[in-house]
Amino acid sequence: TSPIHVIGGGLAGSEAAWQIAQAGVPVILHEMRRDDATGKVTTDAHQTDGLAEMVCSNSFRSDDWQFNAVGLLHAEMRRCDSIILSAADQHQVPAGGALAVDRDGFSQEVTRRLEAHPLVTIVREEIAGLPPAEWDSVVVATGPLTSPALAQAVLDLSGEGQLSFFDAIAPIIHLESVNMDVAWRQSRYDKEGPGGDAAAYINCPMNKEQYEAFIDALLDGPKAEFKEWEHVPYFDGCLPIEVMAERGRETLRHGPMKPVGLTNPRDPTVKSYAIVQLRQDNALGTLWNMVGFQTKLKHGAQADVFRMIPGLENAQFARLGGLHRNTFINSPKLLDKGLRLKAQPRLRFAGQVTGVEGYVESAAIGLLAGRFAAAERKGGALEAPPATTALGALVEHITGGHLEGEQEGSRGGSFQPMNINYGLLPPLEAPKVDEDGKKIPLKERGRAKKRLMSLRALKDLEAWLAAG
Ligand code: FAD
Repeated sequence: TSPIHVIGGGLAGSEAAWQIAQAGVPVILHEMRRDDATGKVTTDAHQTDGLAEMVCSNSFRSDDWQFNAVGLLHAEMRRCDSIILSAADQHQVPAGGALAVDRDGFSQEVTRRLEAHPLVTIVREEIAGLPPAEWDSVVVATGPLTSPALAQAVLDLSGEGQLSFFDAIAPIIHLESVNMDVAWRQSRYDKEGPGGDAAAYINCPMNKEQYEAFIDALLDGPKAEFKEWEHVPYFDGCLPIEVMAERGRETLRHGPMKPVGLTNPRDPTVKSYAIVQLRQDNALGTLWNMVGFQTKLKHGAQADVFRMIPGLENAQFARLGGLHRNTFINSPKLLDKGLRLKAQPRLRFAGQVTGVEGYVESAAIGLLAGRFAAAERKGGALEAPPATTALGALVEHITGGHLEGEQEGSRGGSFQPMNINYGLLPPLEAPKVDEDGKKIPLKERGRAKKRLMSLRALKDLEAWLAAG
C-alpha cells in the first residue's frame, strides 16, 4: 500500500498518523520543527521539537464525561484508541477534575510511540507549498500557526476570503439562559433575517442609564494584551467593541447597538436607547452569538460586563469573545463530510486549521481524519459518527452545522471556531424524574439532561464503531 502523508506533527497530526498506522496503513509524518545539526526550526509558540507539544496550558480540561462535553469527548476518544488520550492518562498530574499532564513527559511519550511504530516514518521538513501531486492522500494538520508558504498555497487553492489569519470572535450564548421575558424576537424593520423569517434576531433593550453604565464597564474592564507576534491590524467591520467605545461613547449606539427598526412589544411607546442583538449560531438553534461583539476584554471580565445587558442577566456562555492569531479555513464551505477539500479531495484537513478550537478538539478531528483516510486507502469509506456524539457534533460544526449569512468579522459566513459544548449536540428534554422514578428538583434538571446526552453519545458511538 502506498503511504498516506500527514503534514504537521502537533496534536491533530500525531493523532491522525497514529490512527492511520493502527489501521494497518503506512504513514509519513512531516513535521517542520527540529533541533539538530542543521539548525533549530520552530513556530512563534512552540518551544521544542517534540510531537504533540502543548503550546500553552498543560490541561486537557475537564475529564468528567457525565456532565462536561470535553470530558465526554475524552471518553469517546479513549474508546477510539486515541494516542493523545492514552499518553495523557499515562502522564497525568493532579488537577482536581481536569486531565492535566506533565507536558514534556506527554510529548515525549507521543513522539516515542510514533517513532517506534513500524508503519510510521517521521520526516523533519517543512512542506512549503502545495504537497507534490503524486501524494494521493494527504492530511493537512498544520495548526493555528501554519507556516506562511503552506498557508499561501491553501489560500490560492481555496480562494480569497476562505482562509482567516486571526479570530475576532463575539461571545456565544446558550439560548436557554436568555431571559425572554425581557428580550424579544424581531428582525430590524421586520425584514427577513438569515433564518428566512422576520423574527430572526433576539433583541436585548437598554435605556440611557443602562447604556451609560455599560459603556463605563467596557472602558474600565481589563483588556487582554496581544503578544508581540499577535500584532494584527484591525479590519473594518471587526473592531473590538471596547475599541469602538474608546472612539466615542455614542459609537456603539450608532454601530452594533443601534436601536432603529426595532420595537419592544412589551411597551411599543418607549424607544430603546440601545439594543444588543443575538443571532442564531448553529442549525439546532441552541447557540446564539452577540452580533458585532468581538472583544479583547479579559475572559473573567466579559461575563460580568455582558450580564449587565437586560435579558442576559443569567447568560451562560458557550464561548467568550476574543481576538488572537489563528489560521483556519472556512470549512463549512470548503470541506465535505469526510474532511476532504472539495476542490482537491486528495487533501484532508484536520485540527485547529479546520475551525475547531483547543487541544482536545484538534486531536479529535485528527483522529477522524486519520480514520477516514485509512478507510479510503483500504478501498472503503467511513461515515462520520452520528451528530449525537461529541466527535460527530464537532464534524457537523465544521462541515455544515452552521447557518449561512453575513457576519461582521473576518469570515464570510457565521462560522466561528469553537470548543466542544453540549449546545453543538441535538438537544434532549430535561428529565423530570431520575432512573428510579424519583422527582428531580428543577435546578438539577439541566445537569441531568447533560448526563442523558452523554449516555446517548456513548451508546451511539458504540453502534458507529460496530458498524465501521
Ligand atoms: P499544532 O499543535 O500547532 O500542530 C501543528 C504542527 O504543524 C506544528 O507542530 C507545526 O510545527 C507544524 N507545521 C506547521 N506548518 C507546517 C508545514 N508547512 N510543514 C510541516 N509542518 C508544519 N488550546 C488549548 O486547548 N489550551 C491552550 O492553552 C491553548 N493555548 C494556545 C496558545 C497559543 C499561543 C496558540 C496559538 C494556540 C493555543 N491553543 C490552546 C489552541 C490549539 O488547541 C492548539 O494550538 C493546538 O495545538 C492545535 O492543534 P493542531 O494539531 O491543530 O496544531
